[in-house]
Amino acid sequence: MNTEQPKKELSAIKGTKDILPQEARLWQIAEAAAKEIFELYGYRELRAPVIEPTELFEKGTGASSDIVTKEMYTFTDKGGRSVTLRPEYTPSVVRAIIEHRLDLQPQPLRFYYIGPMFRYDKPQKGRYRQFHQIDIEVFGEKDPAVDAEIVEMAHRLLRQLGVENVTTMVNSVGCKKCRPAYGAELRKAAAAVKDRLCPDCQRKAELNPLRIFDCKIETCREVASNFPKITDFLCAECQEHFQEFLGYLDFYGIPYRVDPTLVRGLDYYTKTAFEIVAEHLGAQNAICGGGRYDDMVREFGGPDLCGIGFAMGLERLLSVAKIEPPKKSFVYFAYLGEEAKKQSIATARYLRSEGIECLVEFKDRGMKAHFSRANKIGADWVLIIGEDELAKGKFQLKDMIDSKQYEGTAEELAKIILLKDKKGIKSREE
Ligand SMILES: [Zn+2]
Ligand SMILES: [Zn+2]
Repeated sequence: MNTEQPKKELSAIKGTKDILPQEARLWQIAEAAAKEIFELYGYRELRAPVIEPTELFEKGTGASSDIVTKEMYTFTDKGGRSVTLRPEYTPSVVRAIIEHRLDLQPQPLRFYYIGPMFRYDKPQKGRYRQFHQIDIEVFGEKDPAVDAEIVEMAHRLLRQLGVENVTTMVNSVGCKKCRPAYGAELRKAAAAVKDRLCPDCQRKAELNPLRIFDCKIETCREVASNFPKITDFLCAECQEHFQEFLGYLDFYGIPYRVDPTLVRGLDYYTKTAFEIVAEHLGAQNAICGGGRYDDMVREFGGPDLCGIGFAMGLERLLSVAKIEPPKKSFVYFAYLGEEAKKQSIATARYLRSEGIECLVEFKDRGMKAHFSRANKIGADWVLIIGEDELAKGKFQLKDMIDSKQYEGTAEELAKIILLKDKKGIKSREE
């Protein structure tokens, strides 16, 4: 037997991690809940590739955004083309809409997706270079009711996964008509206090002062809190949209806080922007963030199609979710001899068709070794097939929790197992 330790270079790439079965169970539950809820609202899954041309994000995410300037996982492929592991999902969906002319379908279009995203960020606790997002997008719906619908949908998912004590922050970041005037005021304000900003924000002060609000450095945040507020500059259309959006949130009974410094780390937002923050993760680590991007499809050379969506970080979501995996029993087969092995395989096949989880192991064992194995792996039931059982065509079923033993045909025993499962047995793992 080779007992050598695996060499260091065979560990997972920095900033990535394996999700082992026990944890993956929780991921499956969260993902299933998301899919079920989104489908209830008429959203359908759209799966785009993990890699995209780099220009897609330079254009879509915004060349001056932190994601594009600092965090893109970009490399040159063998054909000499610059490709990027997607840092976010929205540009991919926009590309897919234009490429497949999905805009010709009846609107609005509602999509969702769950999958990995990549950012070449400095790995730190709770942050990964490969992380996972739940993403939803709506295209072709101007009504602010849909802005509130997606917030409500996010809340429903959080509730279902036991996430409590969340705060919803909302803002309007204006539109093409009203943002330039605000941008000019902001640039003036930023220039006046430039020496108090970090080098990165000094650069942003000229390039895109709105991005200063994304800075995580405390002094920059303090300086930025005195900057002019976008909400004082909204045009009539943006103002009306914002008020209606808030009205629908009230209608849904969703508490919120208006935060005029909430601009989201992306260039493409227009009008609505929001974030959902969980109490013990803090404002720097929103679980969910989203907003409207009414110009994005057109700026990509597509039709005039407004859009809105959100992304929810699965790692963060799972760090605050309270998920109880449902208890389901499983049957371990204890058999003696070749004939009984085959009978076990056949019986397991039948039980599985009845929805009962079965484990048949092929290692030759004595009955005592079978039971010790069954105990070790936490089997709820042991189905015993020895010579007597083969002769009778009836098997022994031992309930490993209360030690009761039953005798019967496969059909009879299946009924016993299903009946007890239905009553909700406690797993031995507890
Ligand atoms: Zn406006
Ligand atoms: Zn800064």
